[in-house]
Amino acid sequence: MSDEVVAKGGCLCGAVRYEVRGALRDAVACHCGQCLRWHGHHASYTAVDKDELHMPDTSALRWFASSAAARRGFCAHCGSSLFWDRLDSPYLSVAAGSLDQPSGLTTARHIFVGEKADYYELTDGLPQLPRGMADQWSGGASDEGTN
Ligand SMILES: [Zn+2]
Repeated sequence: MSDEVVAKGGCLCGAVRYEVRGALRDAVACHCGQCLRWHGHHASYTAVDKDELHMPDTSALRWFASSAAARRGFCAHCGSSLFWDRLDSPYLSVAAGSLDQPSGLTTARHIFVGEKADYYELTDGLPQLPRGMADQWSGGASDEGTN
């Protein structure tokens, strides 16, 4: 574990801010039905070790229990969707768009394309998985993605 801040991010209004002192996973685009509703479009998530994400002030952070296995974090003031937290995982999925730019990330793959909405097409040539990956570090965000 390093003390060096490698990335910062936060919500639209700035009430929730975080710092990452560790590795960021590649971004993964998640097209599951829950992410579509939560983000208003498909999601893009990086992931960090939970021990390496630091938030000086969590007073505006709220959690929605999206299933028995996971919860989703958002800002109580501006409503920004920020985190997907599988409770039994050592990793936290962080909405890639909440990172301060430039993030330095690239997108690795699409997951849960079997639940993709019909109004957009995937044309970037990246790998497309019908469901998720075996773990949150490899995966993205879906409450069912790691079962
Ligand atoms: Zn906010």
